[in-house]
Amino acid sequence: MVSKCANPECSESFLYFHQGKLFRLETEGREDRRRQLGDETGISKPLRRLEFYWLCGGCAETLTIAFEKGSGISVRPRPVRPQAARVSARANATAA
Ligand SMILES: [Zn+2]
Repeated sequence: MVSKCANPECSESFLYFHQGKLFRLETEGREDRRRQLGDETGISKPLRRLEFYWLCGGCAETLTIAFEKGSGISVRPRPVRPQAARVSARANATAA
């Protein structure tokens, strides 16, 4: 399972569940390369695996994990959400 932070540039070890952020991603088998699963007795549904990835606390603040068909999982910057602070400040102006 998970042993370290999913960020390749980070070597933080996975020790506690309550630290950082755990991602559960469902990945689809790529191009059927896993033929060595044994006999071909006909379970031919697509290979789906649940995989877990973990970002340490520091990385989870700025990074997230995404899965794309073909390229697999990747660590990428977390989208920054525009804050609604300015809107609420204006709304407060009408409050008594
Ligand atoms: Zn990390």
